[in-house]
Amino acid sequence: METVAPLQEIIDVIKASGGDAFKFCYQCGLCDTVCPWNRVRSFSMRRIIREATFGLTDIETEEMWRCTTCGNCPRQCPRGVKIIEAGVSLRRISTEYGVFPAPVSPVKGVAASLLGKGNPLGEDRDKRAGWAEGLGVKPYSEEMELLYFPGCYLCYDPRLKKVARATASILQKAGVSFGILGDQENCCGESIRKTGDEELFKRLARENIKRFVSGGVRRILVSSPHCYHTFKNEYGEFMVNFEVVHIAPYLSELLASGRLELRGEYGKKVTYHDPCYLGRHNGVYEEPRSVLRQVAGLELEEMADRFEDSLCCGGGGGRIWMETVKGERFSDLRLAQALGVGAEVLATSCPYCITHFEESRIALEDSASIEIKDITEIVADAL
Ligand code: SF4
Ligand code: SF4
Repeated sequence: METVAPLQEIIDVIKASGGDAFKFCYQCGLCDTVCPWNRVRSFSMRRIIREATFGLTDIETEEMWRCTTCGNCPRQCPRGVKIIEAGVSLRRISTEYGVFPAPVSPVKGVAASLLGKGNPLGEDRDKRAGWAEGLGVKPYSEEMELLYFPGCYLCYDPRLKKVARATASILQKAGVSFGILGDQENCCGESIRKTGDEELFKRLARENIKRFVSGGVRRILVSSPHCYHTFKNEYGEFMVNFEVVHIAPYLSELLASGRLELRGEYGKKVTYHDPCYLGRHNGVYEEPRSVLRQVAGLELEEMADRFEDSLCCGGGGGRIWMETVKGERFSDLRLAQALGVGAEVLATSCPYCITHFEESRIALEDSASIEIKDITEIVADAL
């Protein structure tokens, strides 16, 4: 096994990178019993922690990059080990040394694109508002109710642009005054931070904050639970405080206040997948279900792994940019669960989940047997 440095030196680096919490681990292995990786292959966070404690971290294999930061194991840990933060601290070391094993190597290109273009997809900045073409969406100005921040995937990905368009049509129907930053919007930085690139995260965050402050932004509406998480829980580190709302609770708010009325029907059997960063990390479980229940004709069916026990799609922690071999994709398991409850539609509220579920759907023998939808697409169909 190749290690970055012997014993004390690496222990000190781990400590300096925020991984000191490892020392509380008493190797009970409960984290491994709930980790989704152990449904598809053998993986041990407990072992990674043990090795790090002795300064024996192997940075040349994929192991320490597997954690999707799904949030399932920290809630089980009897010693309160900050497992996610500790794992990210190891990646910081790898990033510092510039060592990325083959399946992780796309992260290098992603970082370059984020630095140069403000998005991980290598797309041009001036095309960032292309999703809104023909919709009459305005640039944000101070007197508006909210800033809509679609995030990188909804701005550029052809499948996910439909979600941004559905969101805009709902807001317009509800009479919400909103605007966008267009080419002034940057990636929120959540996922690159989880790959250990703290410096790039800070740079992206500072640029976004500068634009929010100079634009007089008070309330930000987001579509991605990853943007939601970092704006709400991490941008505070920069001594700023914006009101952040995710589209799922916001739809619930619009329906409750009567600003949004659903007149149409959606006569399909739907099951809802809780995204890790909306559910486990931020406690939003009820609102998306409440929105779906208000759609006439929609039958909501629950899967076995739901609410805080939801099964990760595999896209968090920067894994969205890494290759996961066939047979090891959590999203394949999730699709099988959705089909198992007879769902015609697997609904969720996260661009990473949709990306992974669409990939799994296409690989199905009968890919027409199920549709993948964001809840905004269902609501837009029922307007
Ligand atoms: S659950 Fe906590 S104490 Fe147990 S092995 Fe995992 S990190 Fe260590
Ligand atoms: S956070 Fe999730 S993916 Fe990461 S080690 Fe824990 S259970 Fe596994």
